Amino acid sequence: MNFNALKLHPLILRAVQEDGYNTPTPIQAQAIPALMDGHDLLGSAQTGTGKTAAFALPMIHRLAGMPNKGRGKVISGLVLAPTRELALQIKENFDRYDRKTHVKALAIYGGTSKHNQIVKIKRGVDVLIATPGRLLDLMQMRVVKLDHVLMAVLDEADQMLDMGFIDDVKKIMNALPKTRQTMLFSATVPKPIESLARTLLNDPVRIEVTPQNEPVDTIKQEVFMVKREDKKALLMDVLKPGEFESALIFARTKRGADHLAHYLHKKGLQSGAYHGDKSQRERERVLNAFKAKKMNVLIATDVAARGIDISALSHVINYDMPETKETYIHRIGRTARAGKLGQAFSFCSLEERHLLKAIEKHVGFKIPLNLSHNFLIPASRQTASKPANKSRAKKGYQASSKKKKKTGQFHRSYKERAHKYA
Ligand code: AMP
Repeated sequence: MNFNALKLHPLILRAVQEDGYNTPTPIQAQAIPALMDGHDLLGSAQTGTGKTAAFALPMIHRLAGMPNKGRGKVISGLVLAPTRELALQIKENFDRYDRKTHVKALAIYGGTSKHNQIVKIKRGVDVLIATPGRLLDLMQMRVVKLDHVLMAVLDEADQMLDMGFIDDVKKIMNALPKTRQTMLFSATVPKPIESLARTLLNDPVRIEVTPQNEPVDTIKQEVFMVKREDKKALLMDVLKPGEFESALIFARTKRGADHLAHYLHKKGLQSGAYHGDKSQRERERVLNAFKAKKMNVLIATDVAARGIDISALSHVINYDMPETKETYIHRIGRTARAGKLGQAFSFCSLEERHLLKAIEKHVGFKIPLNLSHNFLIPASRQTASKPANKSRAKKGYQASSKKKKKTGQFHRSYKERAHKYA
C-alpha cells in the first residue's frame, strides 16, 4: 500500500511525501481508514511504530476539509500526553504534517510559564496537545474550553496510569462532548487500560501492531552476564568508537544516571543524563544535543525516557536490568525506530537474574547471551546470590560477597543457555 491509497487530503499527502514517507506503517495502514470512517480506536502500539501519524493525519484531514472560518476559533482536536517531551514531539509531528493545510496545533505542558501558552491559546488553536495537569489548570481558569472537541486522543495511556494521571484524565474526558471520536493508544493493554477504554470508547476498532509480549523483531537483543562491579568497564568496551552510532542507556536511579554520565564524560564520551530532577531547560538541551548528534550517549531513567523519539538510535543498553517486563519492552522499543535495525543490550549481574528470567518468560524466549565479551562471568566461578527479602530486592540487591551462597542452580541454567546460543 502507498499513501495515495489512503485518500488523505492532497496537501497532507504532499507534506508526508516530502518528508520521505512512502509507505504507511502497519498501524497507519490499519488505523487511518478506520479513523477517516469515524470509528473510535484502541491502538496497542509502541512509540516507533508511526502511531503519531496514525492519529494525526486523520485529524488534520478532517480539519483541513472544514471551512476556513471555523478553524482556530474553537478547539476541535485534543491530544493528551503524559510528558512534556511527548507533547512537544507530537506537536512537532503535527507541524510537519499540517504545514500545507495550516491547521493550528499547540502544545501546553507544566514546568514553564502559563502566560505564553494562554496568549497562544487566545490567538486560536485547532488541535491542543496537552499534559493533563496543565490542561486542567487552564480549564479551571476558563482559558481552555473543550465543548467543541470533535476528536480526542489519549496517547501512552499506560504511562498516564503509571504516573498517576488517571483521575485527571477522567475529569478532562468528562468535559468533552459525548458525541466525539476517541482514540486511545497504549504500548501495553493491561486490565486497567481495558476498563478505561470501555468507559471512554464507543465500539472501538482494535488494532494491535506489535503483539504485546513480543518486542519488534528488528531489534537484536543480547544479554551480557557481568558482575555489578564490572559493568562500567563493559560499557566502555561496548561504546568503543565505531561500534555504535548513538546509545540510550537506562539507569535505575537518577543518581545512578548522573554518576554514569559523569564517568563517561570523564572518559571522553559526549554524554548527558536525562531524568526528572533536571530542569526542563536542561532536559531540552540534552535531548536536542542528542538528536543533533552532538552527543551520542544519553543516560536516562525510565519515566523520563518514555516516549522520546530519536529516530537514529542504534543501541539501547540496560545498564541496570529493568524492574518489570513491561519496562523491558518499553526500553528496547526506543531502538529500531521506523524500520531501522537496532541493538538492545542488557547487562545482567547475578543479583539481577530473576529479573531476566521474568522478562524471558514474558517475551516467550531466552534472550541470546553474548559469550564473547571481556567480563563474562566464568561458569565455574558463578555463585548465586538471591536477594534475602523483598525490601532488599527493591534497594537494588546490595548483596555482599560474604553473604553469597552457592546454589549451583544458576550455573546449570547458564551453561544450558550458553550451549543453546553458542
Ligand atoms: P512514532 O511512533 O509516531 O513516534 O514515529 C516514529 C518515527 O517514524 C518518527 O520519526 C516518524 O517521523 C517516523 N514515521 C512515521 N510514519 C512513517 C512512515 N510512514 N514512513 C517513514 N517514517 C515514518
